Formats: sequence, structure tokens, C-alpha cells
Amino acid sequence: MKVPFIDLKAQYETIKYEIDDAIRKVINSCSFAGGSFVEKFEEEFAHFCGCDYAVGVGSGTEALWLTLLALGIGQGDEVITVPNTFIATAEAISLCGAKPVFVDIDRETYNIDVFQLENAISKNTKAIIPVHIFGQMADMDPIMGISKKYGLYIIEDACQAHGAEYRGKKAGSFGDTGCFSFYPGKNLGAFGEAGALVTNNGELARTTRMLRDHGQIKKYQHKVIGWNCRMDGLQGAILSVKLRHLTSWNDARRLNASIYRELLKDEKEVDLPIEAEYNKHVYHIYAIRVKHRDNLIAYINSKDIQTGIHYPIPLHRQKAYKHHSQYCQNFPIAEKYAYEFVSLPMCSELKRHQIEFTVQQIKAFVEGYNLTAV
Ligand SMILES: *Cc1c(COP(=O)(O)O)cnc(C)c1O
Repeated sequence: MKVPFIDLKAQYETIKYEIDDAIRKVINSCSFAGGSFVEKFEEEFAHFCGCDYAVGVGSGTEALWLTLLALGIGQGDEVITVPNTFIATAEAISLCGAKPVFVDIDRETYNIDVFQLENAISKNTKAIIPVHIFGQMADMDPIMGISKKYGLYIIEDACQAHGAEYRGKKAGSFGDTGCFSFYPGKNLGAFGEAGALVTNNGELARTTRMLRDHGQIKKYQHKVIGWNCRMDGLQGAILSVKLRHLTSWNDARRLNASIYRELLKDEKEVDLPIEAEYNKHVYHIYAIRVKHRDNLIAYINSKDIQTGIHYPIPLHRQKAYKHHSQYCQNFPIAEKYAYEFVSLPMCSELKRHQIEFTVQQIKAFVEGYNLTAV
């Protein structure tokens, strides 16, 4: 048996007719760059997130970057985020000319440790980017409280959290913007690169729309220097189809997570992801923590089970950040967990027998390792 990490082909097969029809419509209308299919998706996605506006862009990275530019964040400013995220979160900050400032993570939810957040605030701090890591939202009430107290912008990195909820309210609807990636492997994935930001701030929606289209206010009238960050028409049409299925796909992920939990809950050597009582987790990534992580991976990969590591090197330890003032600082939880995380197969198409097989192999490894260790 093979257990793939995700199975995009199987997902496509379940919605083939809808997708093929949507693609044909775009080709017939030749609405390829931005245009009506993107606008329709923007309306639907804003509604899904409980926000007034969505702005479709070329990637999640661009959604973060354009938000920071639109908020006027740049040279001399600091933006707080976490070291255990995809590099795009910090890159967007750095590319604006601002400095990412890292705060360690909570040992249970793996999200920003709200108790350490205030220590990281300086007179240059302009914004916080909480990352809803693996599909579970950061603890937004204290974060919004700190934002009010210090007058800081909140930009949610919701690139892994489409449809996740905090106290019944959707990811993306708390911050000045919520930024989403539709990279193919995300819970809502395009057939190529795409992203969006959502907001309730009309001014911010207008500014980011202008920035994604070369700073244009009208054709060939450029008010500011922007860039080309438009979403493809094909991606808009495909995302409209897939958005209709997102909630049931997320439910299937939650069910699969509950099966993993049920089968692994008595395994003392394995730390399972927890869902905070205030959260609805959408399990973009199902990451367990184990000792001897690399050996476990080698073992279960040899049984045809695919795995991932999210992420093996915390951002402050990356070569790209070797001149960063926090390069040698310790973030003990993020660093310890970077050596322990193993992402197991997780998608809506994953079958119970595949989870059972995966768990069997994990148990065989853990028990075998314990025997050889004595
Ligand atoms: C995927 C991802 C991004 C970047 O999105 P792209 O669409 O690949 O540019 C940013 N932050 C996090 C946490 C992500 O998982």
C-alpha cells in the first residue's frame, strides 16, 4: 500500500466535471488576467470569511507584502512574527524594508506565545503577523487586546487556515487583513499560484487593488509605484468551484485527524496536535512530535508512507537571516520542536485504512526502537 502525503489527483477526480466546465468558460471568454472570474471569486471568498472585501493576488506571499506596503510599513519599522513558519511571512516584512522580530511559540498550540508578545514590542513596532500554523488559529483575543493597547496593525497569516475558526469567527476576519495562499497543496488550492487578502477596510482594499495592478487608478494612470500581482482568471474560476467544497473537505480532514488521535492516543512516545477549546482546527498539516524523528521518517518512508517536515530550520537560523540580530538568539520551543515534528499524510481523500496502516508502522517503529535502545 502507498500512502501519499496529499492526493491532488484524487481530489480533482471528484469534481472533474465542474472544474473542466469552469476552465472551458474562461477559455471561451478569454478573461485570463484578473477580470470577471477573479471578481466573482473575490465576492464569494470575502463572504466565506465573513469580510466585506477580498483582493485576489498572485500568491500568499504577495498578499502579505501588499498589505504591509499599503499600511506604509517600511525602513526602520519592526513587525513581530514567529520563527516556525514558512519563510514567506518574514520575507514579506524584509522586502518592505522592515525588520521581522521573532517571538517563540506556545508549547501546545505551536502558535505565537501571547505571554511573550509584549516583551518584543519596541517604539519601532508597527504590526504583528500571527501565523495560524498547521490550520489552527492563534489566540486572537489577547493579540487583539495588545494591538489596541499599543496601536499596532494585525495581519493574519492565514495561508494554512482557510475556514479555521476562533470562537466561531473565521480566520482572516480579525486582522486589518487576513492573507491566504492558494498554492496547490493548501486546503483551498488553485491549479497553479494564487493568493488573496480579505479585509473590512474599504480603503485598504482600494490601495491593495491599486498596488497589485502597477499602482493604476485608471488605465495608464499610475498614482504610485506598484507591481504586477494580479490573479489569473483560470485560478479565479477554479477556486470558485473548489470553494463550494472547502467546508466538506475541511470536515473530512477533521475526521481523519480524529482517527489518528484515536489510534495514537495511548502512544506515550508520540505527541499529538491538540485543538484549543476556542478553536476549529482545519488540519492543513497533521504534525506529530517524536524523538528520533529522522529515524522514524526513514522507517515509514521505506513502507511507502510519505511524510513532510514543517519546518526543519527555524527562520532566525536560516542563512538568509544570518545578518539578523536574532540569528543567535534562542527560541527554545521553536528550536526543540523543529527537531521533533513529522507531518503525516493528511488530506480529505485520505482513507481510514491508510491511516490505520500509517499508525501501525509508527507503532512498529516506536516499539522496535525502544527494544534496540535497551
Ligand atoms: C504557503 C504559505 C505562505 C506563502 O504562500 P505562497 O502562496 O506560497 O506565496 C505564507 N505563509 C505560510 C504560513 C504559508 O504556509
